[in-house]
Amino acid sequence: NAAIVILGAGQGGFQAAASLREAGHAGPITLIGDEPGLPYQRPPLSKAYMKGDAGIEQIELRAAAFYADHAITLVEGRAVAIEREARRVRMEDGSVHSYAHLILATGARNRPLPVPGRELSGVYYLRTRADADVLKARLPAARHVVVIGAGFIGLEFAAVARALGHEVLVLEAAARPLARAVSTQMSAFFADEHRAMGVDLRCGAGVVGLVGEGGHVTGVSATDGTIHPADFVLVGIGVAPNVELAAEAGLEVSNGIVVDAHLATLDPAISALGDAVAYPSVHAGMMARLESVQNAVDQARSIAARLTGKVGPAGEPLPYTAVPWFWSDQADLKLQIVGIAGPTDLAVLRGDPASRRFSVFRFHERRLTAIESVNRPADHMLGRRLLAGTPRLTPEEAGDESFDLKSLLA
Ligand code: FAD
Repeated sequence: NAAIVILGAGQGGFQAAASLREAGHAGPITLIGDEPGLPYQRPPLSKAYMKGDAGIEQIELRAAAFYADHAITLVEGRAVAIEREARRVRMEDGSVHSYAHLILATGARNRPLPVPGRELSGVYYLRTRADADVLKARLPAARHVVVIGAGFIGLEFAAVARALGHEVLVLEAAARPLARAVSTQMSAFFADEHRAMGVDLRCGAGVVGLVGEGGHVTGVSATDGTIHPADFVLVGIGVAPNVELAAEAGLEVSNGIVVDAHLATLDPAISALGDAVAYPSVHAGMMARLESVQNAVDQARSIAARLTGKVGPAGEPLPYTAVPWFWSDQADLKLQIVGIAGPTDLAVLRGDPASRRFSVFRFHERRLTAIESVNRPADHMLGRRLLAGTPRLTPEEAGDESFDLKSLLA
């Protein structure tokens, strides 16, 4: 019945609180977050919420009554220190929250664009509901929308802005969109689709500066010397994990708060999860820091299970081994990814991209590592089951549509 403090009231922090109660934790639970309002989901911010198809109630993880009913104390404010000796979290206003166990769920923040002109008005980022509200308010008056970065957030936003009738230019420094996340085949498909919907997508187009007049952005300078007109710029060039409090408290940090296979830090009284965390992934075969709802939610569940005493058949603590998966919605395309592929993993096509329903199966030394699917949820769901074990699928079978994938589950 020990007091548990959760630092960060986003996707993973919320889930940790909910799962602790579900698993029978009877002691106090305090959920600390620095964003105003109730914990909410981020994915709709660049999709239905941005488009106006979902309101605040639809994106909140639970209504206010849930927290009262489950005796979860929500604290709005910013934590400024973790005092490990005294086992307490110090807040900006000087107040403290004592813990028997602390769960760090501090997430990540946007990487600022590292070029001159970044301070101009009209340059936006998208991480929080507050960011989304600013974008939604300013977008209708925008004449030249430029998105910097063709990652998931940039492309999702571009699809919405286009659907709302805006001319959209996307500048990507890499040779292809979504380069860090998917195969070249999948990148090519998304590049074609965005161009078909009227997005002006330019790859190999680095940004060297922003220009402005009267303090407001008027253009984006690219590496080739072009200045693209812009009065609304969305920067989506990735995130940095929020690790500073952990590092200042002496916890190990290396591209994330370092945790072990049980998601514990080197301090047994502190666990960590979600976007902020680097963990030993059995699926990646190395330390990984993932940015997905699944990762935050499943890690929260795993920590809740451990803290409430759940063990394996021999009484051993259970390591975190969940299969990673992710989705992205762009216009009418649903991309789903399961597993983790290395950049050089073989890519085998199943189905015809022209039908807009296909998958790319990834293999490392003939071992299935990931499946990228577009509008083919059955392949994705099957992949989650296959990758939870030792998949026997060969590249030849994956590429042969007459081969019944379900036979592998028998
Ligand atoms: P977060 O949800 O970021 O929560 C961390 C919280 O901690 C934040 O509220 C932060 O302000 C707070 N915090 C940090 N430091 C302090 C402090 N010192 N004191 C108090 N509070 C603090 N994932 C998918 O799988 N599919 C998608 O389609 C998808 N779409 C996305 C779209 C957008 C626009 C964004 C931004 C993300 C999207 N994601 C998507 C990623 C997903 O939302 C994140 O991976 C997930 O939210 C991570 O959860 P988390 O709990 O680790 O961090």
